[in-house]
Formats: sequence, C-alpha cells, structure tokens
Amino acid sequence: MTKSIDNNGDNGAMETRYADLKDKIVLVTGGASGLGYAIAKAFALNRSTVVIAGRDEAKLKAAKKALGRKVHCIPFDVNDLDRLPSLVHKIERSIGGVDVLVNNAGINLKKDAFHVTNEEYQKIIQTNQTAVFALSREVAKTMVGRGTGNIIMISSMASRYGIPKVIGYTASKAAVEGMTRALAVELATYGIRVNCIAPGFIKTDMSSRALDDDPERKRKVLARTPMGTLGEPSDIAHAALFLASTQSKFVTGIVLPVDGGNSIGF
Ligand code: NDP
Repeated sequence: MTKSIDNNGDNGAMETRYADLKDKIVLVTGGASGLGYAIAKAFALNRSTVVIAGRDEAKLKAAKKALGRKVHCIPFDVNDLDRLPSLVHKIERSIGGVDVLVNNAGINLKKDAFHVTNEEYQKIIQTNQTAVFALSREVAKTMVGRGTGNIIMISSMASRYGIPKVIGYTASKAAVEGMTRALAVELATYGIRVNCIAPGFIKTDMSSRALDDDPERKRKVLARTPMGTLGEPSDIAHAALFLASTQSKFVTGIVLPVDGGNSIGF
C-alpha cells in the first residue's frame, strides 16, 4: 500500500476554527513532511497562506499538490545561513510579510556519544539551533515594522530528560527552549510573541527511525506515557494553531508539552 503523505494514518482532521488566521502568511520550515506537513495543512485549512521550505524539491511539490493553491513551496536549505535574509525578502516581495514563522525543520542522529564526531555534532547544532536563531532573527526584523508577529519553535522531550544516544539533538533542543524564553522577552516590546511546542513521541518518519529498530526504547517510551500511545502529527498542528492565533495573545515564552503526559510520567 502506498503511504499517504498524511503520515502514518493520521488524517489530520482539523475543523476550521481560527478566523483570525485567515490570510496570515505562515512560513513552515520542513513543511513537506511529518509534523511540518501537518502544521502546514492545519494553517491551510484555516485559510492562511502557507509557505513551506525544505531541501527536497520532489517532496515539496508533492506536499503542495496535496495541500492546494494557497500553499507555496520554496526549495531551501536552512543551513544556508547567508541566504536566509534573501529568502525572507523573497517571500515578502512575492507573497507578503511573514506573520507566523514555524521553526520546524530538524534532524536527529542516534549514536553513542563516544562515537559522535565534531562534524556530526556541529551539523545537528547548525540545523536545529543556529539556523533556527538566524531565521527567527531575519523574520523578526520584518515583523518589527508591522508591530506584530508570531514565532513558534519545536523542541523535544530530549530537552527535558536524558535520552541516551542523542547527544547533539538533546543539546540543540535544550538550546531552542532557552532561545524561546530569551527571544520572547526581547521581542515582546515589538508585539512579537515567541513560544515553543515540545512534542512527545509523535508518529512520523523521524520517530519511526528512532523507535522501530529499537523495541526496548519504544516500550520505555510507551510505558512512561500515561496516555499509553504515540501522538499524531495533527496534535502538534492544533497546538501551533492556538499559539499563532489571537486566542493566545497573552501567551509568550512558554514551552508547551504536547506529549500524552510523557514529560510528567512516572
Ligand atoms: P521529519 O524527518 O519527518 O521532518 C523533518 C523536516 O525537516 C523534513 O521535511 C526535512 O525536509 C526538513 N529539514 C531537515 N533539514 C533541513 C534543512 N537543512 N533545511 C530545510 N529543511 C530541512 O521529522 P519530524 O516531522 O518528526 O520532525 C519535525 C520537527 O519536530 C523536528 O524539529 C523534530 O526534532 C521535532 N520533533 C519530532 C518528534 C517526533 O516524535 N516526530 C518529537 C519531538 C520533536 P528535507 O529533507 O526536504 O529538507
């Protein structure tokens, strides 16, 4: 059976409910697959104009085809730091100023800390941390003029407790949570809110790679998740909609676990 682009059987059922998100311009990095795709879909269903960016052009085109007319795709590697300002200006010129940035693109590496090379560590930090800061900075500069804006980060349970064999990923995601608080304080005065979603274990290709060949880890994950199941990508998308909408207009600097209780499981 061909796997649908809506990953792992999650149909992402999403009622339209945030009227204020209509016509907002939403940039989702890594929006062609997994959580990013579910987030892009949720905003599109709320009649936002969505821009998805990622490295794989074929994946982007397939996502655009599935998501419809109001979704634009831009092939882009977020590690191309020097070109981030021109990416933001290109979107501003051709589509409009970015109202909501969802820093979703991320990579993981599962390997004993002893064997992680400096290059491997640096690559994860660059994608999951440095690029997140650099893109947030460039988008925030354009939001300042409009006196409003919304930045959403994606961290992980790895930033909350020690998971073995994911050292670079853990360090980068802990940094993202710190960055959320620091940026939220600095940007609040410009009307820009910055929040973070900490997904628990959600059914996507990334989590399959980490769990499917490691039944012991999967058992542990489910055992410490009070709700006893992995989450759906649409669970994360619902949280992103809330954080982007005016319904959360007095919320900034938070890290919202969406994890079936995993972070507080005994
Ligand atoms: P996927 O691997 O399915 O998706 C990651 C996306 O990021 C892809 O679309 C990929 O697109 C994009 N991406 C990766 N590197 C780059 C880059 N250099 N430039 C542009 N885009 C890039 O993972 P998930 O959907 O599972 O993860 C999404 C986010 O959620 C990540 O930040 C991850 O850390 C986080 N997360 C996921 C959890 C889960 O259980 N699934 C749990 C906790 C956090 P392309 O390859 O085309 O560039």
